[in-house]
Parts: sequence; C-alpha cells; structure tokens
Amino acid sequence: TFKAIRIEKADKGQTVALADFDENELMDGDVTVAVEWSTLNYKDGLALTGKAPVVRRFPMIPGIDFVGTVEKSTNPDWKEGDRVILNGWGTGETHLGAYAQKSRVKGEWLVPLPIGMTGREAMAVGTAGYTAMLSLLALEKHGITPKAGPALVTGAAGGVGSVAIALLAKAGFHVIASTGRVSEGDYLKKLGAAEIIDRAELSAPGRPLGKERWACAVDSVGSQTLANVLSQTKYGGAVAACGLAGGMDLPSSVAPFILRGVALLGIDSVMAPQALRREAWRRLATDLDWSRLQSMVTEIGLDQVIGAGSDILDGKVRGRVVVKI
Ligand code: NAP
Repeated sequence: TFKAIRIEKADKGQTVALADFDENELMDGDVTVAVEWSTLNYKDGLALTGKAPVVRRFPMIPGIDFVGTVEKSTNPDWKEGDRVILNGWGTGETHLGAYAQKSRVKGEWLVPLPIGMTGREAMAVGTAGYTAMLSLLALEKHGITPKAGPALVTGAAGGVGSVAIALLAKAGFHVIASTGRVSEGDYLKKLGAAEIIDRAELSAPGRPLGKERWACAVDSVGSQTLANVLSQTKYGGAVAACGLAGGMDLPSSVAPFILRGVALLGIDSVMAPQALRREAWRRLATDLDWSRLQSMVTEIGLDQVIGAGSDILDGKVRGRVVVKI
C-alpha cells in the first residue's frame, strides 16, 4: 500500500481523506512513478472540495501535476530512474492523480524533467506556470513583441498570473498586473510587474471599445474581466485566454475583433500535444529566475492538501504551493 488523498462518492457529494491505497487499485498505464513532488492548482481545489464536477471516476486520487522517478516501465521511451514531469491528461479527473506516493500513467503523457531544474522547482511551476508559458508562446507565435506595447496580466497574484508576470517581464514586456490584492503590490513588483491596477477597474460592464491600453494580455479570470481586457487591447493586439477564476461566461462583443483586429487565443494545457509541452518546459527551464521566484512558493505536506484546496478557491493562496509527497 501507499499513502494518497482518496476521494469517494458519498450519498450527498463526496468524502476526501488521506488514506492508504492499494497498488492493485492503480489504473492501466505502462510507466509506474514514485511521486516526489506535486502542487496545488485552482482545478485541484475544485476537485478536493467537490465544488465543480472535476472528478469523473471514484475512487479518485486528485492532483493534476507531479514530478517523480520512474520505478517500472514497459514503454520504450522511459526507463527506471528517469526523472519525469506529468501535467494534466485527465489525471485527478478520470485517471488516478498526483497526491499519492505512487502513480501509474501512460508513458506518452510524460515529459523529461529539464536539466538544471529541480523537482521542487518544476512543481513551483506546475500546470499554472506551464499554462502561463503556453500563453506567452501563443502571443509570440501571433507576432506580439514588447515593442507593440505593454502586457496585461489578470489574476496577477494567483499561480498562472504570478508566473506570467515573471515570464513576460523576462521577455522584455512592460507588465501591468491586475489584482484584487493591491496589498501584494511589492510581491508583484518583485516578480517583474511595472504597474499594478485594481481588478475592480476591469470587473464592471464597460463599453464595447475602450481606450487602447495594452498590446497583449494573459487572462486567467474570464467573464466580464476578459470582455474589458479585449475592449482595451490595442489595434492588432492579442489576448491569451486561459482561465475562468471570475466566471465561465464572456459578455463581450465582436467590436475588438472586427474594428481593431484583436485576436483571442485559446490556451489549453490539459491535452496540449507533446511537442508544445516540451517546448514550454525547455523555455521554462531557461527563462525563470529562481532567485526572484522564491517569494512565490509555499511548501506543504500531503496532510495539508485538503485544507489548501479550500484556500485556493477562496482566493487566499498567493503564487504557487508545492506539495512534498
Ligand atoms: P489561482 O492561483 O487561484 O489564481 C486565480 C487568481 O484570479 C486569484 O489569485 C485572483 O487574483 C483572481 N481571481 C479569483 N477570483 C476572482 C474573481 N471573482 N474575479 C476576478 N479575479 C479573481 O488559480 P490558478 O491555478 O492560477 O488558475 C487560474 C485560472 O486559470 C483558473 O480558472 C484555472 O482553472 C485556469 N487554468 C486553466 C488552464 C488551462 O489549461 N487553460 C491551466 C491552468 C489554470 P488576484 O488576487 O490577484 O486578483
């Protein structure tokens, strides 16, 4: 047996506890990994609390990210001792996930831990940070450069937001951070933000086209915020939409698209293809300055994950949480 967070279906909702899990209960896969580090994402909070139907199979081990060492493999790409990262692919949703000492997954889901990056650092990045990098890559592929103008990051003090600030600043952008926690101004500036704005500025219904304020944006909030972000994006700019912390809807108009040629770029980390994942992780290994990012990371143990799941939904988590398994 091994220790894991176990979610069971109950008459009303679900139960969640740190429990023993039998190795025979592991699901199909050709690589077995001894998990060393995991992390906490917004989606993990949803799974742990049952606030949204993230978990699609019971029992479930939640957790969508891990770093570990391959223990057994019948996959030709991986051998015992390889250090690997897993992000997404339905782990913690339909496949037993990361909050466990052991995991069995498909080899094609894994990426190598980049040389020079520790397991703890990789999980300080986690799905949130890797999604921030997917967003930057999408903006770059659209041809956006720092010369075009400032970059806005919404949900700035959250996981995606914190890493997006660091990455955009490193790429040379003047970064505007939108946050509801203006008290975190020093933290956001340390990460690389040049300006801080109050998220309330972006959360009330606005005009279809507003003053042009930024050339690009990484938006993890969605809803009215994303609509306002679009309406204030400069001519020819682009917005990477990667989250819904403020809501699933998008009460927008076509005005920014047809009058300013603004592009809305959709970002998905869960099913992103291997080549893109590897590109993202290679760039993360070279572009993140860990001395700057220390203030972003909080470390907890497996026994603290359940409480932290509620905290992230309450907007109480700053930056990234790593979980020592
Ligand atoms: P997080 O750490 O909780 O960050 C979300 C941030 O959004 C919060 O810290 C807060 O920032 C802001 N926020 C929260 N509620 C808000 C509201 N009602 N209105 C406006 N702003 C609000 O979560 P995360 O792990 O970074 O994830 C962020 C979002 O991206 C989530 O919706 C998540 O599901 C999504 N996501 C998507 C992908 C993908 O593949 N597309 C991957 C990872 C995450 P401030 O306190 O600074 O205002």
